Amino acid sequence: MSPSQQPTNYDLTLETVSGISYYISRPLLEMDGILAVFTARKGGVSREPYSSMNLAFHVGDNRKSVLKNRDLVCSLFDLDFRRMVCAEQVHGTKVAIVGKRDIGKGALSLESSVRDVDALITDQPFTPLTLFFADCVPVILVEPEKRVVSVTHAGWRGVYGNIVGNVIKSMVSPRSELAAGLLAFIGPSIGGCCYQVGGDLIRMFSQRFANSKNWLHGDRIDLGEIVRMQLIESGMAAPNIYICEDCCTSCHNEVFFSHRAGRGTTGRQAAIAAILRKPSSHPRP
Ligand SMILES: [Zn+2]
Repeated sequence: MSPSQQPTNYDLTLETVSGISYYISRPLLEMDGILAVFTARKGGVSREPYSSMNLAFHVGDNRKSVLKNRDLVCSLFDLDFRRMVCAEQVHGTKVAIVGKRDIGKGALSLESSVRDVDALITDQPFTPLTLFFADCVPVILVEPEKRVVSVTHAGWRGVYGNIVGNVIKSMVSPRSELAAGLLAFIGPSIGGCCYQVGGDLIRMFSQRFANSKNWLHGDRIDLGEIVRMQLIESGMAAPNIYICEDCCTSCHNEVFFSHRAGRGTTGRQAAIAAILRKPSSHPRP
């Protein structure tokens, strides 16, 4: 956290470098030396229907194109894409702690990804935690004091099962009061404008999230709003939650990959979190 008494605004902003567009918290990188970034679909080498910055192996794209895209994105931040850690992403609620021996899992092949989890947590520097999205909600959490980062994949099942609550518990344990100092970044996902669901799902969600109806818009659900509520229920301070504004993947299908707008065959953007340098800008090791 900034040593000054002024609260810092960690807002996400859109940048385009070498044709590659992404949302980033620039203050988090400049002041805390921590990367929180959400990629968009432009600037890569993949062809239709994965054009062009597809970062996931599992969608049927050419493997070499995916590797090239991963290298392009990581290079923007002086990161080695071979140190990426990726998760299997099974729409569950399990979380994995990434240690030294996990570095590189999922970087070069789908098979080597961390199995059976939808969230990754690490305190290892220069280790980009990377999960993939095309409508589901990406969440990056940062504990600036202990210097721990996480990335979470939350589709409706993950939201229903409160995966972000599990991640917060793991990140701050055993000092639950640390949750108040966490920073959260909620990236591009399908919005309450477009995420139309059936009556059964609305009934399930209405029973489970009865405290508020801010997340329900007719037959559409705003998963990001429920995630925001869950972060606050887990002890986070509302002003520490930064949301990518006007980032509905389906409304803006020219900017983002959207599973629904792409009718099931499309690429994946990524949420990437990494600890880079010390906040006092010590030189890199
Ligand atoms: Zn929309």
